[in-house]
Amino acid sequence: MTARVLVVDDILANVKLLEARLSAEYFEVLTASNGPDALEICARERADIVLLDVMMPGMDGFEVCRRLKSNPRTQHIPVIMVTALDQTSDRVQGLEAGADDFLTKPVDDIALITRVRNFARLKTLTDEMRMRANTGEQMGLLEAMQQKHQASTEGGRLLIVDDHPRSAQRMVEALEKEHTSHLEADPQVALQRLIAGQFDLVMVSLSLEGSDGLRLCSQIRALDKHRHTPIVVLVEPGAEARLLRGLDLGVNDYLMRPIDRNEMLARVRTQIRRRRYTDFLRNRLEQSVEAAVTDPLTGLHNRRYMESHLRTLVEESLHKGRALSMLVADIDHFKQVNDRFGHDVGDVVLREFAARLKRNTRGIDLACRMGGEEFVVIMPDTDIEKACRVGERLRSGTAGELFKISQGGESITVTASVGVASLEMANDTSETIFKRADQALYSAKRTGRNKVVSDAA
Ligand code: GH3
Ligand code: MG
Ligand code: MG
Repeated sequence: MTARVLVVDDILANVKLLEARLSAEYFEVLTASNGPDALEICARERADIVLLDVMMPGMDGFEVCRRLKSNPRTQHIPVIMVTALDQTSDRVQGLEAGADDFLTKPVDDIALITRVRNFARLKTLTDEMRMRANTGEQMGLLEAMQQKHQASTEGGRLLIVDDHPRSAQRMVEALEKEHTSHLEADPQVALQRLIAGQFDLVMVSLSLEGSDGLRLCSQIRALDKHRHTPIVVLVEPGAEARLLRGLDLGVNDYLMRPIDRNEMLARVRTQIRRRRYTDFLRNRLEQSVEAAVTDPLTGLHNRRYMESHLRTLVEESLHKGRALSMLVADIDHFKQVNDRFGHDVGDVVLREFAARLKRNTRGIDLACRMGGEEFVVIMPDTDIEKACRVGERLRSGTAGELFKISQGGESITVTASVGVASLEMANDTSETIFKRADQALYSAKRTGRNKVVSDAA
């Protein structure tokens, strides 16, 4: 994986040093020697990660970070602050400015590469989701929602896995104002709680008595539900090697003991913000996929979905020598319903018909609204006789029970005609089977409606 890293430092030797190390790992490197240049580069070209020196004349690193993070176009670029002073107050100020991480000078090689790699991975993910979620959408709307989203960093549900009772209790108290945290000393119990419950972030001590916190981290990552849940580990000074293993396992961040409460609060905030942002994008993506294949009036699958699945199902059934049938159902004289009672009543009838269609089909059958008052059911592993019985159930279930059209209980009779067809020949395609079902429907309409006709008849 490669990424474009922008290195910002007022001292040329520092820039050269970081540039050499990153290039050696095949990262693409851009450089700037002051804040305004850095901002301009981010506005003009694609930077995936910014490595930002804190102390620079003129505009310092905090200010550059604040500006990057308050601009909707650059706020998702991860910023790693590079500071000469290993001082908590500096870190807290940086995190408050929106920085995602820290490196202390002299920069440790492995820490540098591991951090940059982690962010490169995250950046690829968010970029991809932004791109897909935006297809056909208005950018302005997305950004407005995004900003609102960025603002909410409180009210997280945290699980803290630590067996130092006093320090853990202090953490819970420090987090209390902004989040709800739960404490668990036993990693196996913690894992069960994660499987059963909803958590926005997990903190894991890497110095648990008699058990391995890293193992728990990898078990958490293996859970589908928590693949994206931020993990922050608690590390003792001197345990850097284990920390690096953790970062390789997908741990998002760490806190050195003794834990500084402000640094902890700021880091938790950053992680929760990022988590909510990716969740938001992921949900939007799911919603847009869902909307693309669903008929909004009835909630059934739409024509587009049906067509692509019919093609696959026909090929599969032919290949495996299994039966496949479909039916096409069309409400009789539906235009009259609209004409007599209005379009809204027409919609009520369509929804009720769709519900009855659903009730009369199995879970593996594919029920779709083709458009208007025409519906299709595709039935895998179903021969023509069985399919006709399904069609008859639907017909009698429609004609045999009145459709309620008002709250007052006014009801009308609705009937439907059904055409049924099955796969017959080795050279059948989704088009030929569909065409036969349609012809059967046409013949049902022509010969009196409210009946089921199969192409075998
Ligand atoms: P037939 O028995 O031959 O099928 O007659 P029909 O009246 O059902 O068929 P036709 O195709 O002539 O009319 C279908 C009507 O369905 C016309 C159209 O306005 C109405 N329609 C299509 N989509 C919708 C919808 O979403 N809601 C409502 N209320 N009506 C719709
Ligand atoms: Mg009709
Ligand atoms: Mg019609």
